[in-house]
Amino acid sequence: MSRRTVTTWLCTVKRTASLISLGLGGRTRGQAIRIAAGLWLAALFLWNAPVHARPPKLVLFITVDALGSDLLLRMRPRLHGGLAQILSEGAFFPNTYYQYAETVTAPGHATLATGANPWRHGIVGNTTFNTASGRWEAAFEDPDHPAHGISETWAGSSPDRLLAETVSDHLRLDSQSRSKSIAISVKARAAIALAGKSGQAWWFQTDAGEFTTGTYYAKELPGWVKVFNAKRIPEQYFTRQWTLFGPGEEYIGADDRPFESERYGLGRTFPHPLDGAQPTPGPQSHWALAVSPYMNDVLVQFAKAAMEAEQLGRHPTADLLSISFSSTDYTYHFFGPYSWESQDAMLRLDASLAELISAAQKAAGGSANLLVVLTADHGGMAIPEELASEGVTSIRVDQARLQQGLTAALQAQFGANLLAGLSVTRVYLEPKAIAARRVDPAAARRFAAHWLSQQAPVALAVARDDLSSGPPGAGYLSMLQKGHHPERGGDVLFILKPFHLLTEGKTGTSHGSPYGYDSQVPFALLGKGVKPGLYLQKIHTVDIAPTVAALLEMGAPAMAEGTPRAEAIAPAQPPRIR
Ligand SMILES: [Zn+2]
Repeated sequence: MSRRTVTTWLCTVKRTASLISLGLGGRTRGQAIRIAAGLWLAALFLWNAPVHARPPKLVLFITVDALGSDLLLRMRPRLHGGLAQILSEGAFFPNTYYQYAETVTAPGHATLATGANPWRHGIVGNTTFNTASGRWEAAFEDPDHPAHGISETWAGSSPDRLLAETVSDHLRLDSQSRSKSIAISVKARAAIALAGKSGQAWWFQTDAGEFTTGTYYAKELPGWVKVFNAKRIPEQYFTRQWTLFGPGEEYIGADDRPFESERYGLGRTFPHPLDGAQPTPGPQSHWALAVSPYMNDVLVQFAKAAMEAEQLGRHPTADLLSISFSSTDYTYHFFGPYSWESQDAMLRLDASLAELISAAQKAAGGSANLLVVLTADHGGMAIPEELASEGVTSIRVDQARLQQGLTAALQAQFGANLLAGLSVTRVYLEPKAIAARRVDPAAARRFAAHWLSQQAPVALAVARDDLSSGPPGAGYLSMLQKGHHPERGGDVLFILKPFHLLTEGKTGTSHGSPYGYDSQVPFALLGKGVKPGLYLQKIHTVDIAPTVAALLEMGAPAMAEGTPRAEAIAPAQPPRIR
């Protein structure tokens, strides 16, 4: 205490002593001062004592695939369910950004889970090119630990390639495995990233229409998963149609637009049949269901079964239930973020989340024990043709043509086919061909980067050698740098101009750029320890894991590079003085 503080404190003690003397007649002034000093010391001790740690009993970590802040803010006035509750009663950061360029599902979930960018967690894209095997591999591919049931290696099956600790891993370590962590999604790459290495990951095997995991996580499926799969719930949707949730006049724009994709027998307009255009249930109808928002309800039913079977929220330490809703992403890819389908998907998700939050509250023994987190793995650009109709310069860039052009340029310069693969923001060169031609690998990379940067749709291209020293690229170079991992990140990195879509498709749309429509996502918190409010400051998705860790009253994951958002954490309540 400073001299001034001591003087103030002594004055307060003396004033209290006077009151005590008045109230307790018969005491001497010395006795009164001693009593007053004792009382104030006790009070000071109590006010300054650390508050007993009481983190939530259950954390419900929700990610919504392809939910850009744009889409959420546009839909917000029409929401009245779980989404609306989280945004209006919780802490809402609509200006949360990814810091790397390739904004797709696997790196997105890995970043949300670890608080790190791909340069640290190593998940640079949904697929990476393996120059040894000569093929593209899934981000979480692991032939040594396949998934149970039908093998879908393209989906991935283990967290072996994830190089950073997740919130899930840290919670399990911190609680000495007393906390449970369960992650659920339609997509393996979402569930695996969220579960990390020591949680459980469950995903939907679309071919079989069942939930599964990899042998990394479980030697065999536990009883409750077998019971759930045996109910064949996905097949109950086979004869149903995806209909409008609300009155037709509330949907903005036209339902039928020629640039929407038609797949799995869904058609372009409501009502959408869910039978996959097949006579009996099978992969096609499972896919039709996965694209529709009805799949969210299947995930919620599975989450409820998990809460019940694993007694989530009933352990001495906090449990973590992570759930990634994937159907919003498929709907977005096929129909675009302005479509009736995306509007409907949000209305139905809003209703599904109300049910999920209510079930989680029950599991946790009341809302006072629950923390809800909401965020997204990326946003998504609108369909180029719909942007163009609004006057935006937006074009489809033919991926095959770009690849052929680069192949020809490398052939002309070095006399060999040096290109191994090209995807989203990455180019991989063929090391064997480079060695065989005795070409300097850095010269080949720099040549390819230079050629790409000369192409009209390309905003920036750089060899990996120049990631830290190249031209700033209007600030986008650092996003390529944070998205690159030296072992898997490719030889040349590039970014297209805004509203340019690298694709071979003629309909639908995609994401994967550093621009706001792909990189800006919501982050919201509701419940235990949260200070509600609308927080408009720009923050980053790497802040999410450290913030959740802070609310769990534990350290941050080991490689996290973000900052806990202290402004959204309620000050600890001092104990009442009795
Ligand atoms: Zn995604």
